Amino acid sequence: MANISMEHICKTYPNGVGAVEDFNLEVQDREFIIFVGPSGCGKSTTLRMIAGLEDITSGTLKIDGETVNEVPAKNRDIAMVFQSYALYPHMSVYDNIAFGLRRRKLSREETDQKVREAARILDLESQLKKKPRELSGGQKQRVAMGAAIVRNPKVFLMDEPLSNLDAKLRVQMRLEIAQLYERLQATMIYVTHDQTEAMTLGTRIVVMKDGVIQQVDTPQNLYSRPANQFVGGFIGTPQMNFLNAGVVEENGRLALKVGSSLLKLPESRQRPLEEKGYAGREITLGIRPEDIRDSEIIVNMLENSCITAKIQVYELLGAEALLYFEYAGHKVTASVHARTKVREGDMVRLAFDMEKSYLFDKETGQSIL
Ligand code: ADP
Repeated sequence: MANISMEHICKTYPNGVGAVEDFNLEVQDREFIIFVGPSGCGKSTTLRMIAGLEDITSGTLKIDGETVNEVPAKNRDIAMVFQSYALYPHMSVYDNIAFGLRRRKLSREETDQKVREAARILDLESQLKKKPRELSGGQKQRVAMGAAIVRNPKVFLMDEPLSNLDAKLRVQMRLEIAQLYERLQATMIYVTHDQTEAMTLGTRIVVMKDGVIQQVDTPQNLYSRPANQFVGGFIGTPQMNFLNAGVVEENGRLALKVGSSLLKLPESRQRPLEEKGYAGREITLGIRPEDIRDSEIIVNMLENSCITAKIQVYELLGAEALLYFEYAGHKVTASVHARTKVREGDMVRLAFDMEKSYLFDKETGQSIL
């Protein structure tokens, strides 16, 4: 059992760098929490404060209701897996996994049983006699996880554990970590800068920027209800497109003027603009590449929210194709079905699915929806 409570946690390094600002989060027992954000946003610092590897400048950290700010790392019952595998090169896989247990003075049988159980879970049974240099990157990372699992900690912390692996192995290890979580049913906190990893692994995701939490939510909600423009742009690939838009009145209804086009708005988008007083003002329109459509049937259906643009680059990815173009001074990407007939240089009508549009305040970047 482990709940973690972080109240108003701040970290300023001795050199004056403010790495984390007013971090508040309640992690429930057995949650899989992800910290995600661009490099330097304070993810590792936060994780290291939870582990006890970094002093907390101010605020309160509690584990199972007990304040642990001053409790040394070794007494927090937390295991941490790093990006570098931190294995002992001269020891076998078996001894690397057993290392942490040896200090606990367990019986030989008990140690053996725990090591073999971890090896079974991580599919390392046939590798136990090898030295780290004989293993692949993925296997090394599994050994590092084995060393964490055998300790049976209350909390697992993982700091970019897959970032040294190649793309294919990352996908495989990502699935393995998801399965590991299902088996262990422990509280996990996982740091990554990769939004795909975050979206596929986490039960809840903490999006950070410049040391400040931007949003804490489920993967689904981060995608469909980003709190601000930063989260909208960070979650989802290819990235959400952003365009300047004027909120104009047309026959008593609100619409968006983008470049020379008028995009009509559904009720779900008009109401918040009206209620929050955006009529006559400029906002930022967010539209995901997959919500820009090129098929004739849909374009005709959505004829009230179309633009015309010249395609600069066509890129076939397999199941879908990406169309790159400029509109009203913005670079825009559309992700359409691979069977599209559109190619480079074509002038095409494209429909924005405004039911799926996002609206952000131009100054603060906060979502208006
Ligand atoms: P992330 O894990 O999101 O990449 P970090 O937590 O490593 O970010 O870093 C957050 C900020 O703190 C960065 O500006 C970084 O340069 C700074 N920082 C990290 N570690 C130290 C340190 N030991 N001393 C001084 N500044 C640091």
